[in-house]
Formats: sequence, C-alpha cells, structure tokens
Amino acid sequence: MKFDIVSIFPELFDAPLSCGMIRVAREKGIISVNTIDPRAMTSDGVIDDYQFGGGAGMVFKPEPLTSALESVLTKDSTLVSLTPKGERLTQKMVADLTRHKHIVLICGRYKGVDERINEIFKPMEISIGDYVLSGGEIAALAIIDTITRLLTGVLGNKDSADSDSFQTNLLEAPIYTRPHVFMKYRVPEVLRGGNHKQITEWRRRKSLEATLERRPDLLANSVFSKKDFEILLEVLNG
Ligand code: SAM
Repeated sequence: MKFDIVSIFPELFDAPLSCGMIRVAREKGIISVNTIDPRAMTSDGVIDDYQFGGGAGMVFKPEPLTSALESVLTKDSTLVSLTPKGERLTQKMVADLTRHKHIVLICGRYKGVDERINEIFKPMEISIGDYVLSGGEIAALAIIDTITRLLTGVLGNKDSADSDSFQTNLLEAPIYTRPHVFMKYRVPEVLRGGNHKQITEWRRRKSLEATLERRPDLLANSVFSKKDFEILLEVLNG
C-alpha cells in the first residue's frame, strides 16, 4: 500500500512514521509513505489567500494543491481530503480502505481548502471526529495508522485486530496481564482458570455490557445470538 501525503508540514510526519508498527510496516515494505509539499510547487512560496466574500481566515489556494495532486495521482489512486465536513471515519471505512493500492491524502490548513479542489478532483471527504484540528496532518496519520495495522504481516497476531473494539460493532472486553493481584485488585478468576469456553463467554458478556452502557448506538449494526439477547436483557433489567 502506497500513501502520498500532500501537506505544507512534511516534517510533522517524521516521528510518527518512524515509530512502532508503522516503522516496522515501512521496513518490511508493506507500506510506503511519501510527502509532497504544495509550497514547493509555487514560485513565490504563497499558498493561502483571502476569502472571496470576506470573513476571517485564509483559504488554501487551488493552484499549488492542483500541482501537488497532479504530480502523484494516477488512474489507480484513491484521493482522500481530510475535513471536518467529511464522512466520519469508522472501522468499517478503514477496512474498506485497506483494499486500495494507492491513497493520496490532502491535508488542509487555515480556514480550509478552496472548494474547487473538491469540484475538480472529487475526493472522498473524511473527518476523524466532530472537532476541529488546525490541520489535516493528524487526521492523515490517523488514517495511515488505522489502515496499516489491518494489513497482512503488520501485527504479530492478526487475531489481535479481529478482537479489537468496533471490529464486530462491539467494544472490547476488559483485558489484564500479570501480576494477577495488583494493589489488592485481582484479575477475574475465570481468565486464570484455563477453560476457554468460559473465557469466551465471559468476554462476550463483558463486551456486550460495555457496548450497551457506553455505546448503545453500535448495537444497531451488531449481529446477536439468542444467548447475546438474554445477556442484554439481563443487563437492561439490572
Ligand atoms: N473551517 C473548517 C470547517 O469549519 O470545517 C475547518 C478548517 S481546519 C481549521 C483546517 C484543516 O484541518 C481542514 O482543512 C482539515 O484538513 C483539517 N481538519 C480539521 N478538523 C478535522 C477533522 N475533524 N477531521 C479531518 N480533518 C480535519
């Protein structure tokens, strides 16, 4: 998988792309990440200008962005513009994006990007949440990170991602490691008993409980067994 990031702050990516799972994925050649600075595409270094119609805040000019995009886009590219106005990123969208070969990410700045970039290039518009960042770089990193950890060969144990929150529209059950008693707090006995059927049932119950309490909106898209319904009813009835 190849990522091209269009950003006026390429240096912002140095540390995040050099650590942990992303570093390993790059070293193994599973992903490659390249940055393109639209400012370098200008003769005068100017990449922002005032808004037509007046109002506070500058606008990212269309010419340097167009030059940057035209230098990397091919017929096989998927173009993503990071914007709070976009579709909110979910694990399902991330899983769908893993099927693409080349993703080009536009990082906005200032008040945002001149609308004609959307009209000309028709990118997917993605938001990473209902809040406003000062630029699209952190959102681009969130996209690269979430996609990369799902790619074959990146995580040591693929089952780890499969049991994560949101993979099946449920939140993950609580997790513990050694020591089994810490400051008088004990790991639930079931997890130490070695009975895998009981452990699976316990985790499913905790996962359903957590989702019902914290994110009931997710349940609308989950798939339930008869036993799951019984557990949910038990939780609801206290
Ligand atoms: N004026 C814009 C609005 O109200 O929608 C916000 C502009 S923001 C200050 C500058 C840039 O940060 C945006 O162009 C976008 O690239 C990025 N950005 C901010 N919040 C974001 C979010 N929640 N998701 C993705 N990108 C975001």
